[in-house]
Amino acid sequence: MDFTSFSFAPAINAGITACGFQAPTPIQQQTLPPALAGHDVMGLAQTGTGKTAAFVLPILQRLQSGPKGRTRALVLAPTRELAEQITVSCRELGQKTGLRAVSVYGGVNKNTQLTQLRRGAEIIVACPGRLLDHLRDGAIKLDGVEVMVMDEADQMCDMGFLPDIRKILRHLPVKRQNMMFSATMPPDIRRLAGEFLDNPQEVKIAADRPSATVSQTLFPVEARQKTALLLTLLTEKPVRSALVFTRTKHGAKKLARRLNAAGHQATDLQGNMSQNKRRAALDGFRDGTFTILVATDIAARGLDVAKVSHVINYDMPNTAEAYTHRIGRTGRALCDGAAFSLVLQEDQSLVRTIERGLGTTIERRQLESLVSDELDNVPAPSRGRRPAARPTARPTARPTTRSAASRRPAGPAQVRRGGRG
Ligand code: ADP
Ligand code: MG
Repeated sequence: MDFTSFSFAPAINAGITACGFQAPTPIQQQTLPPALAGHDVMGLAQTGTGKTAAFVLPILQRLQSGPKGRTRALVLAPTRELAEQITVSCRELGQKTGLRAVSVYGGVNKNTQLTQLRRGAEIIVACPGRLLDHLRDGAIKLDGVEVMVMDEADQMCDMGFLPDIRKILRHLPVKRQNMMFSATMPPDIRRLAGEFLDNPQEVKIAADRPSATVSQTLFPVEARQKTALLLTLLTEKPVRSALVFTRTKHGAKKLARRLNAAGHQATDLQGNMSQNKRRAALDGFRDGTFTILVATDIAARGLDVAKVSHVINYDMPNTAEAYTHRIGRTGRALCDGAAFSLVLQEDQSLVRTIERGLGTTIERRQLESLVSDELDNVPAPSRGRRPAARPTARPTARPTTRSAASRRPAGPAQVRRGGRG
């Protein structure tokens, strides 16, 4: 199957070609026909499967005819980066259509955004908070919206955007096309789909398991050994580009600092940063200035970063689905990727759930000697309260591999704790 079977307008076909897309991905193959026919759609597929074009292309096709200069399509996205990314996709795929897409999100000047909007935009890609702000000010009108898309719906739920979304939808005409995309389908999302979608065509691309090109490894560890373990892993083999997940915003910031102090090119991406800093971090990670991006789930979800060689769960996520989602960020497009997870005792039941879902056990490794406590207590590079201890891994800190799947009667490798222990 190729894109010609959808009878897109020539201007849209030109955009598809310009983007280098040769054939539709599975989620595109299955959602494009109902979406182009104007049906409501619920699309479920892993990260990196091409969901954006699955809703952008039908929007562009619809907007080919009818009034110009008024907002006719609304896409809701959970994060600023994602909104920006979707806007860029609209512009690239729609480059020959003359249609305009504008992002609306917080953290940047409201008036600049309004100036852009006043020039006329047929497509608005928005984060709920700022959009609601503009709606309250009467600065944006959505009464001409014909199609509404909710991208990363599961994350929007997690982030507590539901009340805002309900308020936004009151500004839209009742008769419209709705599309919802999500990587996972927890009960909340099912309920949400029932609330917002009218008799939707449901498309699920079965991929509740990570791509076979991703090797997964668990590292049982104690909390205070995590940083030392991470530093060892990062020096064990050259890491081209690593996405490291932490649970908290503060944790991301602190860890990025530590990695920089140890000589890595690292940056953080989290919600406490200004929009300019967030953009610089992401751009720097994309162009290779930074080899390591330390991020919270919220900041990193849905972002399309080509060629992530390693996903490292410094902190485990809360759910098995989130685990699958995270590690889907590597091993894309048949590149090999590695997913490392630092697991605490308290993560064990989650690990069992993940393994049950995979139908297999994940390889466990332990690093034999770890310079742990000293490392974790090295003061931040700025101004330490203690005399400087050098954050260098001992040359003897060599990892040993022990595969849970292997039948070799290897004795359990010991994790030794140095320092205060
Ligand atoms: P998702 O939203 O499912 O995570 P994206 O829409 O961000 O995925 O797409 C992931 C990557 O795949 C993007 O870089 C996008 O340009 C690319 N892509 C999407 N559709 C196609 C296609 N039909 N052919 C080739 N590349 C594609
Ligand atoms: Mg997406």
